[in-house]
Amino acid sequence: METIFTKIRDGEIPSTKLHQDDVCFVILDINPVNKGHLLVITNEPYKTLGDCPDDTLAHLMTITKRAEAKLRGTLGCKATNIVINNGSESGQEVPHLHIHVIPRYQGDKKDIRLSKEQYSEGEMEALGKRLEF
Ligand code: AMP
Repeated sequence: METIFTKIRDGEIPSTKLHQDDVCFVILDINPVNKGHLLVITNEPYKTLGDCPDDTLAHLMTITKRAEAKLRGTLGCKATNIVINNGSESGQEVPHLHIHVIPRYQGDKKDIRLSKEQYSEGEMEALGKRLEF
């Protein structure tokens, strides 16, 4: 399947590419939360985490770690958000697995935290039993 990211991978759409190897590539996000926001993208257009082979995921995390260290070293950010929007209901716009690495700064007011719910009495324990694996 063709996606905007396969077109970027193949150079049909321009991008600012930071890294490329046999498994993945890394570009700057065109609409950054903060400047330097980058995307670690699988070469193969797996839609979600569950579609992606384990060895590819392991490599993706290794490259994410290296990219994150580069952001800290170059931009001086002391923290990052590392995010996967996994499926359209979660806000995934491009159906091609990618990891966002977003540089964060004290007081930058970029609130990307999710709103939270409360469990009723006993609900968490019951759900926990159903979700054990
Ligand atoms: P998601 O919502 O997790 O699928 O994220 C898709 C990301 O891709 C968004 O943050 C977009 O800003 C980014 N994006 C879309 N088109 C491009 C492009 N041509 N170059 C770089 N980043 C892009």
